[in-house]
Amino acid sequence: MTHPAPAFETRAIHHGYVAADHRRSVQTPVYLNATYGYDSVAENDAEAALGGRLYAREYNPTTEVLEQRLANLEGAEAGLVVASGMAAFGTMVLSLLSQGDQLIVHQTLYSNTVAMVEQALPRFGIEVVPVDLSRPEALAAAITERTRLVFFETPVNPLARILDISAIAEVAHAHGVMVAVDSTFASPALQRPLALGADLVMHSLTKYICGHGDALGGAILGEKATLHRLHETGLRYITGAALSPLSAFLILRGLKTLSLRMERHSDNALAVARALEAHPAVDWVSYPFLDTHPDAALARRQMTRGSGMLAFGLKAGFEGARQMLDRLQLITRAVSLGDAESLIMHPASLTRARQSLREDAHLATGVGDELLRLSVGLEAADDLIFDLRQALDTL
Ligand SMILES: *Cc1c(COP(=O)(O)O)cnc(C)c1O
Repeated sequence: MTHPAPAFETRAIHHGYVAADHRRSVQTPVYLNATYGYDSVAENDAEAALGGRLYAREYNPTTEVLEQRLANLEGAEAGLVVASGMAAFGTMVLSLLSQGDQLIVHQTLYSNTVAMVEQALPRFGIEVVPVDLSRPEALAAAITERTRLVFFETPVNPLARILDISAIAEVAHAHGVMVAVDSTFASPALQRPLALGADLVMHSLTKYICGHGDALGGAILGEKATLHRLHETGLRYITGAALSPLSAFLILRGLKTLSLRMERHSDNALAVARALEAHPAVDWVSYPFLDTHPDAALARRQMTRGSGMLAFGLKAGFEGARQMLDRLQLITRAVSLGDAESLIMHPASLTRARQSLREDAHLATGVGDELLRLSVGLEAADDLIFDLRQALDTL
């Protein structure tokens, strides 16, 4: 009897690790070394000629297991892990784009990606064109002969709108342009952009994949040839954004329970979204698996569940949002997402505070003053709903 190919849950625990190669340790050992010693000069030369395992910025056995496992879970040929999600985005754009090239991005993006595309890339002669990618015809109109890459998130931070990966990839590929998707909000447990036509997937491993808020990390997964450009000749070596082996270990540990956690995050978020929608102080709720979500049908085609991210606005607006946040007793006021703890943030308050440092700090396109972003954690849904209600009831 031939065994069927192992399922996602099984591969998330086992893929890419052979205990016999590591003195039978059941857990992936943490290799804390900066360099590798060889028995002879000839051996050292041979390794260097192969593109070499000479130094820990280039190669580490612990991070290699994480790379192979993530690539497998995304259905990719190869993967690269780096120090953070921003390091992954930086490595990708600085390796694949050059002076004079054009990068098309969705008009709404994670705030630090906005800073990178607005403040950094133009200084290096890379033109960034924001487009509303919910209209693929707008993409066709924006592409020029200098366009190299289309980049977007789905679900989109912070509104949890959904973009159609297949439709965008079809337009981009018709013009010979590559497509990269930041799939951080979904994780490979809920969505596989490569199977839908994307060329590259990017993750902030800091979020759901690690899942416990105790390590930073980033990943890029895709075809071997592209990953070779990023990995062997690309900017990890040059910028030095290597992932710590200890962080790789923590992320591998989190990854084992990814499917279980994403199920509970999604169930909790749907229950919380419904409770918020029913509260008289709430003006609107955006959660991809709510029937009232504008992209609900697309979300159900593209994702197996809705994930744990939702956004909502109060009738009492900006000030109401601040008052409500201060009344919460269980849900933590914090940026980041994907942890066991529920985390809530008010982007407009943070942006106003940042304006004292940088006058040009601004909210991403499509994000209102009233918007609250909630990362629904793994606590009991009833406890989360109770906390939200007691904070809303007095508004
Ligand atoms: C957090 C985040 C990033 C950046 O990742 P870091 O690990 O914090 O550098 C990029 N994209 C999205 C959607 C994120 O949520």
